[in-house]
Parts: sequence; structure tokens; C-alpha cells
Amino acid sequence: TLSIIKPDAVERNLIEEIKQEFKNKGFNILKEKKIKLEKSEAEKFYKVHQSKPFYNDLCSYLSSGPIVVMILERESAVVENRKLMGATDPTKAEEGTIRKKYGISIDKNSVHGSDSLENAKIEIDFFFKD
Ligand code: UDP
Ligand code: MG
Repeated sequence: TLSIIKPDAVERNLIEEIKQEFKNKGFNILKEKKIKLEKSEAEKFYKVHQSKPFYNDLCSYLSSGPIVVMILERESAVVENRKLMGATDPTKAEEGTIRKKYGISIDKNSVHGSDSLENAKIEIDFFFKD
């Protein structure tokens, strides 16, 4: 699956702590890189959300600072990563999830994770196809 540590978490120096959360749940980090997106790249990445009212702010935010993109491997990686991340809104996320622990708000929720195997492939290609 594809995981992103978003700008709010990178800014608060949470990269190592969040990577440890994945490792503790049996994920191998196969590839990772720290990058900063252009807004146009964020718009392409979040294209599925282009009709949503939060799309413009979301793309500005994702391109506002450095992020860490990672390929995470384990059995049932997509589903297990979504469980570990918790609900989109940190106030609704379960105890022990990354968003509950580190998320600031529904937009600054610290991590992204692919929502299906199909999208995982697309998102991995987006960042790591070269
Ligand atoms: N988002 C937002 N406002 C909303 C819903 C979502 O700012 O009302 C942002 C949030 O950062 C979220 C991202 O848009 O992580 C993508 O939304 P999605 O519904 O795909 O949530 P996710 O898959 O990240 O849980
Ligand atoms: Mg999503």
C-alpha cells in the first residue's frame, strides 16, 4: 500500500515516531522518500476529490511543505494500514490509531493511506514509477 506522512506531521518532527507505528504493526517499509509536491502534483494525486468543496484547500495543504511517501508491505496491507490510521477525522478515530494520536484536525490528519488495492497500485506508480 502507499502511505504518506503529511506536512503537519513532518513539521512536528513525527517522521520516526510514525514510521515506528507501522513497523510495530508488522509493516516493512520497502521504499521511502521525502519530497515536496508542487500544487499541480497534489491536484493530480487527489484528482478523485476534485468535485469536493475541500479539494482546493486539500491540495494547497498537501503541497505546503515536505512529505514522506512510503511503500508499506505486509499481509492485507491496504486494510491493515487503514485500521492503523483510524478515521479521517481524528476526533472520531479510535484510541491507539495514528490519527487519534497525532492528527490535529480533519484536514491536518497526519497520514494518507490507499483505500483499495487498485488505488494502491495507482498511487505507488504515481510516486515511484521511474
Ligand atoms: N479532507 C478534508 N475535509 C473533509 C474530508 C477530507 O480536508 O471534510 C481531507 C483529509 O486530509 C483527508 C483527505 O481530504 O485525509 C482525503 O479525504 P478522504 O475522504 O479520502 O479521507 P482518507 O481516505 O484520507 O481517510
Ligand atoms: Mg482517501
